[in-house]
Amino acid sequence: MANEQRNELIDTHCHLASDRYADMTEVREQSEVLGLSHCISQGTHPGDWDATLALAREMPDFISACLAVHPSDCTETDEAQWERMKSLCRAHPLAAIGEAGLDYYWDAPAGWTEDAYRARQRDFLERHFELARELQLNISLHTRDKSGSGSACFEDAFAIARQFPTVRPVFHCFIGSRQQAERIFSELNGMVSFTGLITFKKTEDVQAVAAWCPAERIMVETDSPYLSPEPHRGKLNIPGRVRYVAEKLAALRGVSFEQICRTTSCNAHRFFHL
Ligand SMILES: [Zn+2]
Ligand SMILES: [Zn+2]
Repeated sequence: MANEQRNELIDTHCHLASDRYADMTEVREQSEVLGLSHCISQGTHPGDWDATLALAREMPDFISACLAVHPSDCTETDEAQWERMKSLCRAHPLAAIGEAGLDYYWDAPAGWTEDAYRARQRDFLERHFELARELQLNISLHTRDKSGSGSACFEDAFAIARQFPTVRPVFHCFIGSRQQAERIFSELNGMVSFTGLITFKKTEDVQAVAAWCPAERIMVETDSPYLSPEPHRGKLNIPGRVRYVAEKLAALRGVSFEQICRTTSCNAHRFFHL
């Protein structure tokens, strides 16, 4: 990729293997019109790993792949599937391990107690960090609590991440506090990335954090096909709409759109070894 390209814009977290996309060439064209240069697509369960790798192989200039088991899929993933994922990770070029993490928002699935479900998630997250350490990759991290003000999930993920000082985490779709962001930066050498949530009404708290964060710690993402930003809230999201996230971030920080593009794409290059 041309590092010096002006207004380079990178969507650092999306799910392009989603069956909600019928035609990736069309998604690419629509995204490039909006200024998108590259995206990092996250495989999250045994059913989309191969498709995620295939997309990166077909469009290497546009898509880089990450593989992991999403915490919501950890009870559906058996040891054979986990071993298969490790083999895929060792055999293919990846931008990072992801998305992995902890999700305490949803209740435990049938047959699991809440404690057992969370313990399973923590076990899987540790395994992902071990794999990232082995492959010298960073990790795209998902954390979500029961309520917006809860912090059990963050604290548990933070404690695991601390055990792996050579692996840098990006807390994707960050909606945490400034204090949490400070700990991510100072104790984990980590990053945060912002989604279309910062374009929504009533997200002033995270907007204030986004305005404050040191420039070298921030990235932007869509989490497509989810979380379409304003003015397309509620619609099928595409990576190109990271433009609206970047525009909002520029406004919040009082800098130009071009400056936010340079800052966030430079950070993405470094973090994902693009
Ligand atoms: Zn996520
Ligand atoms: Zn995601």
